[in-house]
Amino acid sequence: MQANELISPDKEKCVRCDACVDICPMHVIHVDEDGYPQAVGKAFLTCINCGYCVDVCAPGALRHRVRKRSVNPTAALHAALKRLRAARERDDKTKRGESK
Ligand code: SF4
Ligand code: SF4
Repeated sequence: MQANELISPDKEKCVRCDACVDICPMHVIHVDEDGYPQAVGKAFLTCINCGYCVDVCAPGALRHRVRKRSVNPTAALHAALKRLRAARERDDKTKRGESK
């Protein structure tokens, strides 16, 4: 991890699932050209150190300069499930709209 990086994936472990990108409430993680997560510019100023990105990474591949884990490790899982459910509901509504 370089000094100016907020987050850094261990490329030996990262499966490029985007879970850390999706979970970040501040949208400071995006995908680089190789599909690995990367902090956006000035991420240090925006990151709230919630730790969700670290918690949600199943292979334990994400290193975060400040936050190792969130204060409530299950919160990231609940947030991820909430987003998944919302995405499914949107999909279902779209499908119902198409079938009319
Ligand atoms: S600690 Fe929270 S705000 Fe900071 S990069 Fe991770 S998910 Fe985003
Ligand atoms: S959650 Fe972990 S495995 Fe998935 S893209 Fe992020 S660092 Fe890689």
